[in-house]
Amino acid sequence: MAYTISTDCISCGACEPECPVNAISEGDDKYVIDAATCIDCGACAGVCPVNAPQA
Ligand code: SF4
Ligand code: SF4
Repeated sequence: MAYTISTDCISCGACEPECPVNAISEGDDKYVIDAATCIDCGACAGVCPVNAPQA
């Protein structure tokens, strides 16, 4: 199971550089995770100020 970013995301961008496999990109109204690339490391959840990335 990949992590997903909830609608709580405020598009701060903090998670994108933390992802070791570059699975995170900016979407239209929030950041998004490519499910096929995510390795479930949890790094994005660790830096998000609003706890938007969910396992
Ligand atoms: Fe990237 Fe890890 Fe977050 Fe998956 S859980 S999007 S691999 S930082
Ligand atoms: Fe969105 Fe959280 Fe990533 Fe910031 S760190 S872009 S609020 S998911």
